[in-house]
Amino acid sequence: MLTVPPDGDVARIATLRVRLAHRLARHLRTSPAVLAPATPLVSFTFDDAPVCACTVGADMLDASGAKGTFYISGGLIDTRALHWRTADEARIAALHAAGHEIGSHTYSHVFVPNLGPDAIAAESRRNDERLRTIVPGLALESFAFPYGFGSISAKRALSGLYRTSRGIVPGINVGRTDLHFLRANPLMDGHLDIEGIAGLMDAACACNGWLIFYGHDVVDDPSPYGCSPALLEAALRAASDRGIPCVSVAEGLRRSL
Ligand SMILES: [Zn+2]
Repeated sequence: MLTVPPDGDVARIATLRVRLAHRLARHLRTSPAVLAPATPLVSFTFDDAPVCACTVGADMLDASGAKGTFYISGGLIDTRALHWRTADEARIAALHAAGHEIGSHTYSHVFVPNLGPDAIAAESRRNDERLRTIVPGLALESFAFPYGFGSISAKRALSGLYRTSRGIVPGINVGRTDLHFLRANPLMDGHLDIEGIAGLMDAACACNGWLIFYGHDVVDDPSPYGCSPALLEAALRAASDRGIPCVSVAEGLRRSL
């Protein structure tokens, strides 16, 4: 059993210092860019690689012609966490072989606001090297903050390591944006229903914006941080009905710049 709780559990007990650093990081852009995709875009992202996300979830993406991004912490590979078992090396290799993106999530799944630039670089290097033992030569372009918490100094450090960092602040990415604080919306049954999905998709269509979802497990009766296959299916159908491409985060960035 891991002692590392999932993202939502720790977010609730974040220290005041971490919360303040995170709030400042939300408002001060360190990697400004103007995102202007030619069409609306949707990215489905999954953190921590629960087995069911890498099997049920990935299979559903494949059936829809969608490519997802799976943010993985090397230290959590093939372990049992509170709410799920995480994918082993073979499943991670299969994700990559199917064309999904493997993103970084630190090796130890740590609060990056608690780390200095050198420690962030060391965590990132260790994670990237671990993932490359599974997929030799793997290019890691995308990062997601464990627990969703960032800081200004962390964003600056990560900007030298990855092309984007994804948080968990909801919204649509379009126009003036911080590449190291991409907005993302929870694809979680407890947070979003089919009407909510439709509203987000329509909003992305209205502004030609890039809509990113994040979640964890994909299973009937999911954890508070995951979704049911029915909710993922509804989101995939909503994107398909509107003709919105479902692309990885790396591809979403390429189409937005
Ligand atoms: Zn995580």
